[in-house]
Amino acid sequence: MSPPTLDVLNPATAEVVATVPAASAADVDAAVTRATAAQRRWAAAAPADRARLLRRFAVVVDEHIEELAQLEVREAGHTIGNARWEAGNARDLLDYSAGGAERLLGRQIPVAGGIDFTILEPLGVVGVIAPWNFPMPIAAWGLAPALAAGNAVLLKPAETTPLTALRLAELALEAGLPEGLFQVLPGEGPVAGSALVEHPGVAKIVFTGSTRTGKHIMSRCAERVKRLTLELGGKSPNIVFADADVEAAAAAAPMSFLDNAGQDCCARTRILVERSVHDRFLDLLVPAVSAVVVGDPADEKTQMGPLISAVQRDRVRGLMDGGRGAEGGRAILGTAPAGPGFWYPPTVLTGVSPEAPVAVEEVFGPVAVVLPFEDEQDALRLANATDYGLAGSVWTRDVGRALRVGQGLRAGNLSVNSHSSVRYSTPFGGYKQSGLGRELGPDALTAFTETKNIFISTEA
Ligand code: NAD
Repeated sequence: MSPPTLDVLNPATAEVVATVPAASAADVDAAVTRATAAQRRWAAAAPADRARLLRRFAVVVDEHIEELAQLEVREAGHTIGNARWEAGNARDLLDYSAGGAERLLGRQIPVAGGIDFTILEPLGVVGVIAPWNFPMPIAAWGLAPALAAGNAVLLKPAETTPLTALRLAELALEAGLPEGLFQVLPGEGPVAGSALVEHPGVAKIVFTGSTRTGKHIMSRCAERVKRLTLELGGKSPNIVFADADVEAAAAAAPMSFLDNAGQDCCARTRILVERSVHDRFLDLLVPAVSAVVVGDPADEKTQMGPLISAVQRDRVRGLMDGGRGAEGGRAILGTAPAGPGFWYPPTVLTGVSPEAPVAVEEVFGPVAVVLPFEDEQDALRLANATDYGLAGSVWTRDVGRALRVGQGLRAGNLSVNSHSSVRYSTPFGGYKQSGLGRELGPDALTAFTETKNIFISTEA
């Protein structure tokens, strides 16, 4: 029997662009052995040398931004503009994390009878299980701080998007990172992913993907008390108050849920609008959504490409056509190309119940609901009425209100008069069932360490 492989399809054309070998549990086991040996040497290296190598890795990634971006367009259907940003984000993460290698500071704590201090030690081998929606950034969010803190990394990319991950591993070697320290294991989730989760030699799992798979992985990690970071789904609100710049809010709303064809855990898919400006907002939103350019992701002018796969398109169709969302509501549609590829048009739903599945479940496609609210309290009640708590936006000119609503929202990443959620230098992660732990920002490295406390007696 020939070894299993994964076909990588171009989502814009449904054509196979590459076929790569799929890792088995035995491959994962062999990779853990190599990583364990490499990690010991890496942890023993001078922090300044680790930092220098990671900066060199960042430089090599920078030299290949266009190539990595074109690869992401082909395997993930991302628009070329987004794909360049994503490759740049991977570079920036390496650069930013490199500095952390020399700033992984413990503490000296005053105690009686001696000196007490903490040191932060690497965990060992870290498994990063990445999704297909942002293959490069999400890989880098785990990879870069984990390496900087002295760990080895085994990255399992999603079945549909292994190509940029494989290329990053080649670039790491080109930059001089030791063999075995960063390995990529493309493969099926229940095979290669599961083998990483179950392996006693893997000290931590960083998982980004669906809440369902995240819960399963969490239960498996519990068996060994394996360290775990989870970045899961979202159903984020975009709250527009009557005192906001309603024109600006309506102009910004389309790409807040259509970027990456809505396959974004931070997508602002629940647009909550104060009733007194609801109709005016919709009158502005509809033409703005229709004006979004949907098409060939390789074209510089394109704003929205296809969904990742036929499976994902069918999931979105299922949620919309199964009477689970649009029931009783009105769907306002943009256009999408016909023919091959996994296309779904931009869609805005009005008049749906706030409890409808489409209003509270993650669609992960270019679909948003618009719901009216009465006042600040009502806005907060609606905004918090989901199991998720990843991101959110508040549009208002009232600073006090922005702060009150910001404090009242049960979500990890908020923006006021903006939809910006992700910066490599600020923490990112979810409340409730959107996740566990935080990535990015100044504390990212500590999530890849154990704290050891040492007491030295000064009493002779
Ligand atoms: P998924 O969560 O099943 O897959 C994410 C990653 O986990 C992939 O690398 C996959 O191979 C791996 N995986 C799957 N089963 C595993 C297992 N048993 N053990 C270890 N690893 C495993 O996501 P999906 O099926 O590709 O997408 C389903 C839905 O998830 C989407 O419709 C969307 O709603 C959501 N999703 C969310 C995000 C996010 O960023 N929050 C990302 C991708 C998908």
